[in-house]
Amino acid sequence: MAELFKNHIDGKWLSAKAGQTFENRNPAKRDDLIGLFPASSAQDVDAAVRAAKQAFSTWRLVPAPKRGELLYRVGELLRKYKEDIARGMTREMGKILKETRGDVQEGIDTAFYVAGEGRRLFGETTPAELPNKFAMSVRAPIGVCALVTPWNFPMAIPTWKMFPALVCGNAVIFKPAEDVPHTGTILVEILLEAGLPDEVIQLVHGRGEQVGAAMVEHPAIPLISFTGSTETGRIVGETCGRLHKRLSLEMGGKNAQIVMDDADLDLALEGALWGAFGTTGQRCTATSRLIIQKKVHDKFLGMLEGRAKALKLGDGRKKGTDVGPLINEDAVRKVETYVDIGQSEGAKLVTGGARPAKMSGGNFFEPTIFTNVKAGSRLEQEEIFGPVLSVLRVKDADEAFAVNNDVKYGLSSSIYTRDVNTAFRALNELDNGITYVNAPTIGAEAHLPFGGVKQTGNGHREGGWEVYEFYSETKVGYADFSGTLQRAQIDTYLGTPD
Ligand code: NAD
Repeated sequence: MAELFKNHIDGKWLSAKAGQTFENRNPAKRDDLIGLFPASSAQDVDAAVRAAKQAFSTWRLVPAPKRGELLYRVGELLRKYKEDIARGMTREMGKILKETRGDVQEGIDTAFYVAGEGRRLFGETTPAELPNKFAMSVRAPIGVCALVTPWNFPMAIPTWKMFPALVCGNAVIFKPAEDVPHTGTILVEILLEAGLPDEVIQLVHGRGEQVGAAMVEHPAIPLISFTGSTETGRIVGETCGRLHKRLSLEMGGKNAQIVMDDADLDLALEGALWGAFGTTGQRCTATSRLIIQKKVHDKFLGMLEGRAKALKLGDGRKKGTDVGPLINEDAVRKVETYVDIGQSEGAKLVTGGARPAKMSGGNFFEPTIFTNVKAGSRLEQEEIFGPVLSVLRVKDADEAFAVNNDVKYGLSSSIYTRDVNTAFRALNELDNGITYVNAPTIGAEAHLPFGGVKQTGNGHREGGWEVYEFYSETKVGYADFSGTLQRAQIDTYLGTPD
């Protein structure tokens, strides 16, 4: 009998009002059913919003340092349960244990970082333009925040949103992606175990088109934080524009690693393998394009091909596995489609390109490399979100930078070079939210802003110091202690005639 999981609404663990459920299966072993989760509807969202609104009225008054202290306890609990969470996460979404441990660690780092910010939610003071008057700004929470998250970082990404939202004094409604409801449930259980008042966090499981859309449409939710594909982000953005909601979008990527003629090729090789095939290529920051300068192109490709072929596919919980499965059958079909597109566009398939033999029980796909990829082709431009690397040959840094920049996305980029001038030119000229020098396109630190430009984002950042701007409003306070009516914005300069 499959385990039955619940929503967390109004302090209670509840089934969906309509009683419907959906399955959550292990992508490495599809006959392994993790459990049944509530397929919720707008009715469930509505109940969650009512409870969250109520909770907000008291949570907002808890001093921010106290709200922060709670996150220290959350960090300790995440640390205590790290191994179990990581194993459960690998079973649920497939990436190898080393990576799921890293995903939980990001949550731990975020908890400790944000906890301290409870004592640093600074406002500003400034001299007032009138005598005997005090002027200041403070941070005020916004209300009920809806968090809609993807499946590829089931712990890290929700914590990037949830912890700053909570420390700023907001109540939260959390909808994890339908492929990772189990890890989402564990995160909420941990917040409750740490002592978060029950109603401050609501968990509503279900499909994006139902639950996610109902949250985005709900008139009593003023803030939406969304991470997912650019296509879904567009739908969310249109609705939020119509309803005047505060919105943070973190979306797709088509990230490139540049390898210059003077690069340390061994180092660049490790970066390319990790960037392209880590998380089976399913990271928003995954390296999906490799731009190689002409002199080292053939040599570097030779090095890469052998290593990519040797990567071991399998269950991420097994020792020795390098690459786990894709998240679901749709994702495998999407990768197959792009393999066909690449071939029809004249790119050369040099390794991979198929489902591996004798692994049909899971959603596996071979690490795949295309060479002779043309700048501007669909293979080079579109996000595939799988283990497919497109290789382009360029003559110099100018061409490399132009190819990097000529896509609609702008999340991450990387350059391998020993020339300090080229490295700083790259930092200056690559049109991305993040640029790495002599490191792969993937990886982020909790206390630095994370996000992208162009169609990757809408100008906000996760993590880092900027995120508190998003989860709080600026409230200005004036105190006039002159004892007289002083009129601001009236010309009061000495010498002005009456
Ligand atoms: P997705 O867009 O399919 O889903 C993301 C979330 O949105 C899920 O919770 C889903 O249920 C929900 N959703 C779907 N339709 C919705 C709707 N109409 N209204 C509201 N919510 C809806 O993305 P995914 O497949 O879960 O994740 C992969 C994508 O996420 C990739 O494009 C990847 O690049 C991107 N991503 C971006 C970042 C970043 O920080 N930029 C990080 C991770 C993933």
